[in-house]
Amino acid sequence: MSIVDPLSEEQREIRDLVRTIAREHIAPRAAEIDKSAEFPWDVVELFRENELFGIMYDEEYGGIGASALMTLVTIEELSKVCATSGLIVAVQELGSLGIKLAGNAEQKQRYLPKLASGEWLAAYALTEPGSGSDSAAMRTTAVREGDEYVLNGGKRFITNAGVASVYVVFAKTDPEAGHSGISAFIVESEYPGFEVGRIEPKMGIKGSTTGEIFFNDCRVPAANLLGEEGEGFRIAMRILDRSRPGIGAQGLGLAQGATDYALEYARSRETMGRPIAQHQLIAGMLADMETKCEAARGLLYKVGAMIDADESDGLSKLSAMAKLYCTDVAMEVTTDAVQVLGGYGYIQEYPVERMMRDAKITQIYEGTNQIQRLVIAREMLKENRAFLYAGVA
Ligand SMILES: Cc1cc2nc3c(=O)[nH]c(=O)nc-3n(C[C@H](O)[C@H](O)[C@H](O)COP(=O)(O)OP(=O)(O)OC[C@H]3O[C@@H](n4cnc5c(N)ncnc54)[C@H](O)[C@@H]3O)c2cc1C
Repeated sequence: MSIVDPLSEEQREIRDLVRTIAREHIAPRAAEIDKSAEFPWDVVELFRENELFGIMYDEEYGGIGASALMTLVTIEELSKVCATSGLIVAVQELGSLGIKLAGNAEQKQRYLPKLASGEWLAAYALTEPGSGSDSAAMRTTAVREGDEYVLNGGKRFITNAGVASVYVVFAKTDPEAGHSGISAFIVESEYPGFEVGRIEPKMGIKGSTTGEIFFNDCRVPAANLLGEEGEGFRIAMRILDRSRPGIGAQGLGLAQGATDYALEYARSRETMGRPIAQHQLIAGMLADMETKCEAARGLLYKVGAMIDADESDGLSKLSAMAKLYCTDVAMEVTTDAVQVLGGYGYIQEYPVERMMRDAKITQIYEGTNQIQRLVIAREMLKENRAFLYAGVA
């Protein structure tokens, strides 16, 4: 570990392995995944073979020892070449966190080993047609009948819809009780009454599925309730505090990947008798891109270390800051990379065009960046900081 690189030797070895997989196997597939817009099962198989999912789970469940920091590093490295592939890891964590944080021993034993090996993919189902940012306005209901809950309603924009085997679903057990009427359930795709609807065509991350799921008298064992009835909203927010940095990592990977590509291009493309990297306006852009990536990484890795140290004080704020900053940087830097490449940047043959399209979603999902700003401001207003001008007129 050094000040420049906060990773231990073992962590650097894992990063190098992921980097090699990304360079040798995923980079050559990325354009095709984007073009075909088909879920890349071959990438999932590659992750299974190399035990990449294990980075997110404790050894007792078949993982290599859960590390939030290494999960972020993995998502970053993969997203440098393919944001869809990075998202596979990010959503496995998003869909697993409810079970890790609120699951009982039986639930953990049933689900985590299959998620750790990658045999099963996971999903997180909060958003509905009428409730995105305002998630408490959800309408899906869950009614207890004997030793089952019967779910009715539907979710929209669910990543991994149709490819996940297990969904953490939020539904109202007491529709009159607002936030405290929401409960969380583990729903398997094989349960009767569970259906996958339309898969949305979209601007970027095209290989990832984003779709509707429906519950038509879907019967879920009561044993699959996460925590207690009414704890769902709190569980959803605890999950997001720990999963949002994953989207930050996807954004950072995109930004660094675009910077690296633009740098190489600017070295060799010549105009007016010299490489464009030697024109000061281009050099300045490259310097700003690199600086933003480095600043984003500092913030992101700090949150990863904080989660690994189990520090929850200030986590909501820092996690929202990391998601906000890394993903705004992703949009700025990928747009600049397109500019550095000039007309070639706009052409599909060059990856920065895809990176710019992929970057946009990182500012939207897992809470839009407007919502991240609201979270940060809310946390700031709660703080009791020393005011240095107190008493000064
Ligand atoms: C590709 C993709 C994948 C997704 N994956 C998942 C998933 O796996 N699971 C899941 O549950 N959801 C998922 N989502 C949903 C995503 O999290 C929501 O789309 C997002 O939270 C925004 O909700 P909305 O689309 O309803 O927008 P709205 O909430 O309608 O917001 C519209 C606009 O208003 C702004 N806004 C809203 N409220 C406020 C406010 N109070 N103050 C200031 N501005 C405000 C928003 O920032 C936004 O700009 C996914 C979405 C997409 C597109």
